[in-house]
Amino acid sequence: MSFVQPLLELQDVDGRIRELEQEVVDIPKRKEQENARLDTLRQLLASAQGELKSIQMKIAEADLEAEARKSKINDLKKNQVLLKTNKEFQMYNLEIKKLEDDLSTFEAREIAALDDIIPVKAKVAELEAKLAKEQTDVDEYMADLDARLAEVQQALQEAQTEREKVAEKVDARPKLYYDRLRCKRWPVVVELHEGMVCAGCNLVQPPSVGQMVRRDMDVVACTMCGRILYQP
Ligand SMILES: [Zn+2]
Repeated sequence: MSFVQPLLELQDVDGRIRELEQEVVDIPKRKEQENARLDTLRQLLASAQGELKSIQMKIAEADLEAEARKSKINDLKKNQVLLKTNKEFQMYNLEIKKLEDDLSTFEAREIAALDDIIPVKAKVAELEAKLAKEQTDVDEYMADLDARLAEVQQALQEAQTEREKVAEKVDARPKLYYDRLRCKRWPVVVELHEGMVCAGCNLVQPPSVGQMVRRDMDVVACTMCGRILYQP
């Protein structure tokens, strides 16, 4: 009976366990990445909404100022007809002229802001649509990831049960050797390439090592990396 065969079977199960364990670690990371991507979009949207609000405030402000001037001008014009002297009349004219100049300034400001608001509104709408779409995609992807995680955890449990069974077929001493090395080197059991080269570290082994490997009776370790050598 082959000495190394049960070790190879154990390594095969351990290989699957390693992959599954890696997936258990990777899935939450992928979820974090997705959330971070959504957060970036949310921040962009909040910033565009802030910009929109600030322009809307500018418009409202300019509008308020313009309305105040209009009403003041109307009042002055109403009172002007009641004035007695020419001098007073001229003073009112000056005051009205100044208010009219201010009025044009605020109206121009309002018009400019109304122009500015168009691309910002479009940007907000675009980001809102993008976020909604991304959110739907991410929700779906998250559900897939959760389902995958449950599958992986189930498979991991099964593989660990299988490992216990497979490990029973390996003698205590080689198993101890294998388990110790497993944490440092992977894979642990490697082919002796062309009867003389360790496939783990590429060191050419002495001929005696090759002979022992072919005998397949005991752990034969690479003289450099310590991996268990075998010849298929
Ligand atoms: Zn080696």
